[in-house]
Parts: sequence; C-alpha cells; structure tokens
Amino acid sequence: KSVVAIVGRPNVGKSTIFNRLVGERISIVEDIPGVTRDRIYAQAEWLTTTFNLIDTGGIEIGDEPLLVQMRQQAEIAIDEADVIIFLLNGKEGITAADEEVAKMLFKSNKPVVLAVNKIDNPEMRDEIYEYYSLGFGEPFPISGAHGLGLGDMLDEVVKHFPNNEIEEVKDDTIYFSLIGRPNVGKSSLVNALLNEERVIVSDIEGTTRDAIDTHLHKEDQDYVIIDTAGMRKRGKVYETTEKYSVLRALKAIERSDVVLVLIDAETGIREQDKKIAGYAHDAGRAIIIVVNKWDTVESNEKAIKEFETKVRSHFQFLDYAPLVFLSAKTKKRLHTLLPAINLASENHAKRVPTNVLNDVVMDAIAMNPTPTVKGRRLKVLYATQVSVKPPSFVVFVNEPELMHFSYERFLENKIRDAFGFVGSPIKIFARRRQ
Ligand code: GDP
Repeated sequence: KSVVAIVGRPNVGKSTIFNRLVGERISIVEDIPGVTRDRIYAQAEWLTTTFNLIDTGGIEIGDEPLLVQMRQQAEIAIDEADVIIFLLNGKEGITAADEEVAKMLFKSNKPVVLAVNKIDNPEMRDEIYEYYSLGFGEPFPISGAHGLGLGDMLDEVVKHFPNNEIEEVKDDTIYFSLIGRPNVGKSSLVNALLNEERVIVSDIEGTTRDAIDTHLHKEDQDYVIIDTAGMRKRGKVYETTEKYSVLRALKAIERSDVVLVLIDAETGIREQDKKIAGYAHDAGRAIIIVVNKWDTVESNEKAIKEFETKVRSHFQFLDYAPLVFLSAKTKKRLHTLLPAINLASENHAKRVPTNVLNDVVMDAIAMNPTPTVKGRRLKVLYATQVSVKPPSFVVFVNEPELMHFSYERFLENKIRDAFGFVGSPIKIFARRRQ
C-alpha cells in the first residue's frame, strides 16, 4: 500500500486534515479496553484506492527548536512516504521555515503535493498565487475546517502512487516481524534465528520499499523477517523517539502474516507491552507471544504455568495467541519458534467448508438459544467465510442489531473449538439477509 505523509509547520492544520482524510472508523467487533492508538498512522481511502497516511506532526521530537523539528519531520516523510503533502497556512504566507522544508523536499525528488490550508471561502482562492514560487507546481486551496478542496488534492496525490502490484503477489512465503519494547531482545532473537542450524539466509535488496528485509529458508519453507524499529539502528535523532518506533512497528505489522510479540521473562510484563500487542491485534495479524530471556528464570513446568497465567490475564484480547518460551541468548527452545510460526500462518490463511461451518453454527444455536431483545429474537439463517488473513465470517441474520457482543463471542468460540485457529484472530460480522 502506498504511504502518504503530511508535513508542515505547527498549527497549519495537519491533524485536522489527517482526521478528515482518515474519517471515523469504528470497528464492529473490537472492544479492547486499555489499547489506545496514537493516531499518527492510519488507513485512508480515496475513490477505489486505499493508502496509509502519516501525520509527521504527531511525532514529537523533544524540545528541539522549530526549524530542527521541521527538518526532522521532513526527513521522516522523505524516508517513509511515497507521496508528500506539504501543507501551508494560507493566512500566513510563506515563512522561512516553509522555505527550508521546501528545499529539503525538493532535493529528495519525492512527489510533493502542495496544499494551502485555511482557504475557507472561494474569494480567497486568488490569494494563493505566491505559493507557486515554492516550485512544486499548482497549489491546491483547501479548508480543513470546512472540508473543502480535499477531493482535488487527493486526485493529485493518487496520481503519483507507484505501481505496487508486485508486492501483493506473495506466494507462500511467510512474512513475520518482531515487536516489543526496547531491550526485550528483538535483535538478539533475529540473530539467533539467522544463526540457527540449517537456516539459509539471503539479503535480497531492493525487492521491497524498505529493502532491509531478511530472507531465510528452512525445511522447504521461505520466510521474510521484516525489520522493525530498533532492530537496525540507523542513527538519526528521530529514530529514538517513541512515536517513530511505533510508526515503524505499525508499518512492519501491516506487511506481516505473523507478528511475534516479545515479552521479557526477566522484567515481567509492563503496561507498554500491552499497548504494543494491541497494535498487532488491531491489524488482524496472526500472533505468537514469545517469552524471551527464559534462561534467567528457573525453568520448569510450574514456572511456565505461572507465567502463562500472568500473560493470559494481562493479554485477554490475545487469547488465541500461543506462548513460546525461549532464550535468544542460549538458544534454548529456539527450535520451537519456526514450527509455531508455520502453524499460526497456516491458520491465518485457513478456509473452512461452508457446510461444516453451518453445522457448527446451528449446533451452537441449538445449545445456547439466540438472544431476545424487547420481544424480538435474533434469527441466524446461515454463515459463510468471506475472507482469510484473518479468517472472516459473515453470519446472515434477521436483524443485525439483535446480535450481542457476547453472543458473537460465543459463536466465535464455537467456531474456534471446531476448526482450531490457534495463533490467528477470527472476525465475525452480522449482516441482514437481503
Ligand atoms: P532489542 O532492543 O529488543 O533489539 O533488544 P536486544 O536484542 O538489543 O537485547 C537487549 C539486551 O538483552 C542485550 O543486552 C541482550 O544481550 C539481552 N538479551 C537478549 N536476549 C536475551 C536472552 O534470551 N537472555 C538473556 N539473559 N539476555 C538476553
């Protein structure tokens, strides 16, 4: 998917535009307390195209002076985006900071779409000629406050999208990434995997935008490890800021089939772990919880059980994710990881036969009758699997409003019991039968 970044001085209206373009997305099935997402990275759509949008203004970079911050935001946009929206304030004209950013963007050769915000009424459109002088062609007058001009601007943005079709053809390679707070052992685990016996490693550069993926091959299965924040430090100031790590992690998660959520056995579970895991869950990826540094704990069945109980109570929303206990340092139990990844990936892409699915759903209903609201009873007509990655099911009913979260959860559990989707989330949507 193409990535678009919005760059501009503080208060030019970046967040307003960002929110306008992203719109409200209320998920029907997700309800996870405690997982708040920083909206610096989100999916947006225009006509038939979906793309990802970054609000570089949301990435605070310490208390650096304005010009330094602007420079860093422009660098982030240049590094991460396919197309950059350079946002200016139509009420203030071009400032020195704007000119500085313009120079950087110009040098990068990335496509730049110039948008002049706060042009709230048509008479003001004549005032934007001075913006031609920045050298990015026609400026687009917009109004974030009133939602004006965004369509024309987006038409121009979409024109510059590279042809990403090749990336969509994924064969049966398993793409996975590792996420977790700093020092949980992400780099150590990657290195341990790469040095494992009978693993063949090749760095194929240039095959993806990020070009830092690592390919490995073991026992007839191809894998790609997708780089995440902190795994390969490149030394730029903004790379150490928390929100930038989150952004990198979100990008990696999006390209993954399986996400390994790392937890440190030595320090135990922290609040930040939960938030990070929430990102992977929200994205609908297969998930494995990897408890690393297991060498620091006295390892026996009891210790494993106790740790598992703790993990389960902290990560209730990840009840489908298996746990793998290992040590990247001593390589103990490391050999259990790739098989767990294979299984989770297989389940993430699994299709179940419609007739068996309906038998399972009807049996479930016979066992636990559908809810009644104000004298109206939910009627389930039939169910069908509509997609994979993650497996998603539509249940056709008389009135979708009668489908309670708890009943949906009950059906989900029954479907899980019957087909075993270990490692993968599944989604259920209630639809009115046409
Ligand atoms: P990252 O920030 O998540 O990439 O973490 P690193 O891979 O850089 O590891 C952070 C620290 O934890 C380093 O000092 C590692 O040597 C140490 N470490 C990583 N894995 C293990 C492990 O399995 N056991 C122990 N005892 N230490 C580990």
